[in-house]
Amino acid sequence: MIPATFDYVAPTSLEEALAALAEHGDDAKVIAGGQSLLPVLRMRLNTPEVLVDLGRVPGLAGITDAGEHLRVGAMTTYQQLLDDPAVAVHAGVLVKAITEVADPQIRHRGTIGGALAHADPAGDVGAPVLALDATMVIAGPGGERRVPATEFFVDLFETAVGEGEVIVAIEIPKHTGWGSAYEKFVRVAHQWAIVGVAVTARAEGGTIAEARVALTNMGSTPVRAHDVERALVGVAATAEDLREICARVGEGTEPPSDLNGDAHYRRHLAGVLTRRAVLTAVGA
Ligand SMILES: Cc1cc2nc3c(=O)[nH]c(=O)nc-3n(C[C@H](O)[C@H](O)[C@H](O)COP(=O)(O)OP(=O)(O)OC[C@H]3O[C@@H](n4cnc5c(N)ncnc54)[C@H](O)[C@@H]3O)c2cc1C
Repeated sequence: MIPATFDYVAPTSLEEALAALAEHGDDAKVIAGGQSLLPVLRMRLNTPEVLVDLGRVPGLAGITDAGEHLRVGAMTTYQQLLDDPAVAVHAGVLVKAITEVADPQIRHRGTIGGALAHADPAGDVGAPVLALDATMVIAGPGGERRVPATEFFVDLFETAVGEGEVIVAIEIPKHTGWGSAYEKFVRVAHQWAIVGVAVTARAEGGTIAEARVALTNMGSTPVRAHDVERALVGVAATAEDLREICARVGEGTEPPSDLNGDAHYRRHLAGVLTRRAVLTAVGA
């Protein structure tokens, strides 16, 4: 389908972009890589009057080592994240999840900021960002504010980004030396996750010392599995020792039921994938 008519502005500074958003209110929509927004426009699920393109705003793309964390500009593409060795070293689980996103064309256009703002619960970047305790830097008319990942995802396709605001960066605490894995279950290649599990973990002498676990498509937002994380500490990294703990990962979650599987099936799947991901992350 053809999108409804819209005006297009391409600001060359963040101030101009924020001014355009302030001027047009909820008639305006930000466009980044367009990989989620264009399908939405073509299906006329949304009909903004103005698109504000962030593509020419300087300083929004790129990855900087900021000491304790990596600062990833919101307009950084998936491919730029894959190409930067620092991301693999300090935030391995993000790289592993992004490898599973769609195909090379989409990974060259799609941005991390766009994916997080879109907040599809089946999207692959929410869970790793949650597992890594990242913080979203959001700019608006009142200046910048920082929102931790635990408070960023509000509901289905809804985030803490308010009207007139844009994500400018994501700050990702370094998890240097931690192992990682992203288990994505799909029936055919390039499908959205039926269930996904992001794990980053550290083992000492065959025993799990620290673990972070987050789930994709197990509710209306990415879900952090704090109880399982706590239960994993001090446990031997063997399939048998992990079985019972990981099987509990779906407790309290509200996954969807659809043609790919009902909620009960997804909870079972999440347990199996979590065990696999933990074993891979700790190299067992
Ligand atoms: C065929 C296909 C297959 C796909 N498969 C997968 C998959 O397997 N896994 C997966 O995770 N994703 C998948 N995607 C979705 C895609 O990865 C992302 O959703 C997409 O790249 C979002 O980033 P973008 O830069 O393209 O955002 P856009 O499409 O430009 O924008 C998306 C939304 O975010 C808003 N937005 C964008 N940037 C900002 C910002 N900086 N601040 C505030 N709001 C902003 C826009 O207004 C819009 O509402 C697929 C997409 C397609 C078309």
